[in-house]
Amino acid sequence: MPFADIVGHERVIEVFRRSVRSGKTSHSYLFEGPVGCGRKKTALALIQALFCRATDDDACGVCPACRKVAGGNHADIHCIEPLPDKRDISIDQLRELQRELALRPYEAPRKACIIEPADRMSVNAANSLLKTLEEPPGNAIIILLAENADMLLPTIRSRCQVVRFSPLSPEHVRTLLKRNGMDSESAALLALMADGSMQRALELDDESLAGRREMLLKHLSAISLGRIATVFDASEELAGNRGDTLETLDMLLSFYRDMIHLAAGCNDIVNTAIRPALESFAARLGLDRALQVAGDVMETRRAVQRNANVKLALDHLFMKMAGGAT
Ligand SMILES: [Zn+2]
Repeated sequence: MPFADIVGHERVIEVFRRSVRSGKTSHSYLFEGPVGCGRKKTALALIQALFCRATDDDACGVCPACRKVAGGNHADIHCIEPLPDKRDISIDQLRELQRELALRPYEAPRKACIIEPADRMSVNAANSLLKTLEEPPGNAIIILLAENADMLLPTIRSRCQVVRFSPLSPEHVRTLLKRNGMDSESAALLALMADGSMQRALELDDESLAGRREMLLKHLSAISLGRIATVFDASEELAGNRGDTLETLDMLLSFYRDMIHLAAGCNDIVNTAIRPALESFAARLGLDRALQVAGDVMETRRAVQRNANVKLALDHLFMKMAGGAT
């Protein structure tokens, strides 16, 4: 995938384009950032740009070299990850890599390798890589991927040029999901719940999402009637593990964001499949109350993130929503 097709990370890409154009790329990089934000795609785009001879600062995407990189079968690219039944990348894997890097490239101007996750190299494996990082044989390029650079040995870090990747914005996740063929509405909702990670977005199964939306809406309708028993039923059913609960709260927040839009006279909403229900909620609550509840949901989200008891946090929130608390 050429740089031109990468979504987000504009500043990083611009720097890479400049260094490819001027022929001044580093030989060892450490890409630091959350899983699913596009580090590996960017690493492959950089390698593709270096291997493609058609253009000066990006890959053409169509020449034989570009197609092999995109197809994952370029003989000069080595991807190192833990073996299937192992937790760590072993020293044997790195020795094998070093042997490969010492050979002449088959067809590319240089060899390339991606090590992921770099923080799962055993200490011995990491130490064996130090000299290679400093002076890669045959001008090879080595790209390490890690969520947190601080998890790597300082001796590894200091030998690499560190490139920081931010989580994707919801707009970028939405764009990528739609590019994957997802309908606009599901993409918009998942993008809000994905924490800037495409991997996370894809894990959140679209169909189960529709089911959860229906269930949440059902509880919301019951809570809005203000009966205390329904409040506890709702928190009983909706309180899952911390991650599930955060997703439920994100979904709830997306409902209230839509209600705020509707109450303010703006028709642009995310949850179009339940528009009639949201319109009637918005009409009943009004803008001020919808804003207030959205604030309460965000506060609950922060509390759950800070390890609050999930069930109690939801009890408290739903009581407030039912008008039964202070
Ligand atoms: Zn090309």
